[in-house]
Amino acid sequence: MAVTSRLLRLSNSSLIPTTINTISRNFTSQTTLHSSPLWNDNSNNNKPSMLRKRRNVHWVFLGCPGVGKGTYATRLSKLLDVPHIATGDLVRDELASSGSLSPQIAEIVNSGKLVSDEIIVDLLSKRLESGEAKGESGFILDGFPRTIRQAEILEGVVDIDLVVNLKLREEALLAKCLGRRICSHCGENYNVACIDIEGDEESPRLYMAPLLPPDECASKLISRPDDKEEVVRERLRIYNELTRPVEDFYRKRGKLLQFNLPGGIPESWPKLLQALNLDDDHEDGQSAAA
Ligand SMILES: [Zn+2]
Repeated sequence: MAVTSRLLRLSNSSLIPTTINTISRNFTSQTTLHSSPLWNDNSNNNKPSMLRKRRNVHWVFLGCPGVGKGTYATRLSKLLDVPHIATGDLVRDELASSGSLSPQIAEIVNSGKLVSDEIIVDLLSKRLESGEAKGESGFILDGFPRTIRQAEILEGVVDIDLVVNLKLREEALLAKCLGRRICSHCGENYNVACIDIEGDEESPRLYMAPLLPPDECASKLISRPDDKEEVVRERLRIYNELTRPVEDFYRKRGKLLQFNLPGGIPESWPKLLQALNLDDDHEDGQSAAA
């Protein structure tokens, strides 16, 4: 909206009204392009400089529980050679390493409360500082920010240049969560759901192949107790209530890239690279992620 009103002010002096729609579209995409150092580089001939810039990405992955944020963030972090920082891991690591915040976190966790936004941001700042000291450059955040408040605090700490919002239709998310199985013998993860949802005016057909176990695991499959329909629906409800506004927060800043997953990893990975302007390195990407 801010962009539109800026454009409308501009249009009073120099633009005729019929061009506003076109300008508005261009302007929005330019804002998005500008916000990512990677996307600034349109010269595909200059590989070394692209790679150098690429390592500076400050990206956030958003998306409903079960959408596969961790999977895609991990693959991209390998491709771009930047750390994949999941805030759940930061909390677990701090507890395990008896860091300075660990007594405080242990008390909160033991009393069944949620770790506060301030502590999470503290852990994240420490993680970024120690990474920088080790020569790391850039990052991909996964699982953070979860709320508007966290997004506001994060904005004061570090400049985010791109937020990738992974989207999958709710019926597919639900089917995917309900189809999750673990082998009680070897601990391997599988998914018995074969998702094939007809397309309509809004979205194309969606097909996600199941990930079936080999014979030796097939008779030992169990599901996690929190992969029940009511639990999954509650997780989605909480996400919609708390995290959906974070999408708007970044949309208003011209930093949100909406990505509708077209299917499983084989269909989605190349398209995601394309959307991120990384498809040049598709082959590299596959070997880096393999
Ligand atoms: Zn097994």
